[in-house]
Amino acid sequence: MSKIIYAHDRLGAPLKGVKLIFAHDTEVALAAAAALVNTGAQAEEELPDVESLDAFVAGWGWTGSRRHTRAELDAVRALRPRLRRIWDEDADGAVTIVNTLLRDGQALPQLVKHDEWDYHLHATSPEAPLADRMAVEAAMALVDVIRTGELDRLRVCAADDCDDVLIDLSKNRSRRFCERGCGNRANVAAYRARRRG
Ligand SMILES: [Zn+2]
Ligand SMILES: [Zn+2]
Repeated sequence: MSKIIYAHDRLGAPLKGVKLIFAHDTEVALAAAAALVNTGAQAEEELPDVESLDAFVAGWGWTGSRRHTRAELDAVRALRPRLRRIWDEDADGAVTIVNTLLRDGQALPQLVKHDEWDYHLHATSPEAPLADRMAVEAAMALVDVIRTGELDRLRVCAADDCDDVLIDLSKNRSRRFCERGCGNRANVAAYRARRRG
């Protein structure tokens, strides 16, 4: 699994001296969207049952209502290929998908305060189905990516045997590998090749 970042970590104190590419909540939402896509990117299904979905939801700090049903799981799994397609699209294609996600999820941006968190943006009600809330949160974050012309930060892992997606949030746009250790594996392989050479 990728590194756990809490979705509502968005509302903690901003890191001093760290220049974000997007707003913190947007960056967390993008990471969560990539992590969701990647649960379906490997040979083994990483959301095989309701328990694995519970763990994913807890790990990313999703709040709001849950059904804990097979139908809820199926809806979340069905969202993955819709999101995944955005990585293959140009701006016009990505806009079509994002606008459809916003429309289907009946997105209505509202500032809210809940639990220990100060005002932040929700665009769905806490009672909306989990998959709809996930879809709209991802779409809202992608709105920022597209309108700032940063869609090329959406990448697929450079390792030959890995189909994970990633969002390069580095300042110098240098990120090429996913968070499953593909970068380390590539470094080791390059080191061995140098020694052999
Ligand atoms: Zn919230
Ligand atoms: Zn990878």
